[in-house]
Amino acid sequence: MTTTTLAPTAQPVAIPVGEALPWVIFAGLILMIAIYFVGAEQGATAIFKGMYVHEFVHDGRHLLGFPCH
Ligand SMILES: [Zn+2]
Repeated sequence: MTTTTLAPTAQPVAIPVGEALPWVIFAGLILMIAIYFVGAEQGATAIFKGMYVHEFVHDGRHLLGFPCH
């Protein structure tokens, strides 16, 4: 009869919050910019003239449930 002992070989890696925080803030800013262009880049809140941005993200607007037409 053999005895098998399973020893954990993988240890969890600690993620220091101080090192991850700038990347979390950066990703949040990129996400907010993307949400703006998908959801609010139209009409009075438009930065770019014309409907180019709106038409480019039009399917995304409908997918995310933003009011459109
Ligand atoms: Zn639409």
